[in-house]
Amino acid sequence: MKVIGLLGGMSWESTLYYYQQLNREVRERLGGLHSAECVLRSVDFADIEELQASGSWDEAGKYLGQRARQLELAGADCVLICTNTMHRVYSAVQESVDIPVLHIADGTGDALERSGIDKVALLGTRYTMEQAFYRDRLTRRGFEVLVPEPEERARVHKIIYHELCLGQVLDSSRETYVRIIESLAERGAQAVILGCTEIGLLIDEHTSPLPVFDTTLIHAQSALDWALRT
Ligand code: GLU
Repeated sequence: MKVIGLLGGMSWESTLYYYQQLNREVRERLGGLHSAECVLRSVDFADIEELQASGSWDEAGKYLGQRARQLELAGADCVLICTNTMHRVYSAVQESVDIPVLHIADGTGDALERSGIDKVALLGTRYTMEQAFYRDRLTRRGFEVLVPEPEERARVHKIIYHELCLGQVLDSSRETYVRIIESLAERGAQAVILGCTEIGLLIDEHTSPLPVFDTTLIHAQSALDWALRT
């Protein structure tokens, strides 16, 4: 089994979820006492949030690139950037290391393709919903990507930073997300991408009005496909 490098802490609430999923998945696939071979480099999310809010993406790329290099030196065979948003600096991170950085949207695209979905809703931070770096990776593969209306996007974003990243999972926010997913379904979305690694803590296939593609689960699964195959 190859060693999976986790660039985490963005936020640590979802890094826990990654760690749990990687280990659960290995147990399911290999049975017995098997568990995932991994290395974690967890960052201070307050630093990241500041760089995001000021639009300092070059600096953020250097910051995460340095830490990805530390994962490589610690024995990682690949890197997972454990957040959708920070794939904004995917290229800078990949350029900092000689091991592959497995892009979170690629596994998601593969999963959508396998399910025959072509029109999909995307929920995430405002950076992920509004900037091109994430949507383009999917539209280039032929998917039509719908995002919520501006006022809904602001609510989705606020719930991520003010609640989910702080470990608060509120029924009222789940209802907000459900209403927003319903309106995306009315606009023709066939499924919804939980394009923020904390959203799976709030919404799942039982509570969502549309089929969900949870990027944390998918990223962990595609990393293991890689780690067990290569
Ligand atoms: N974990 C979130 C994501 O997947 C948001 C936190 C961040 O901005 O990195 O986008």
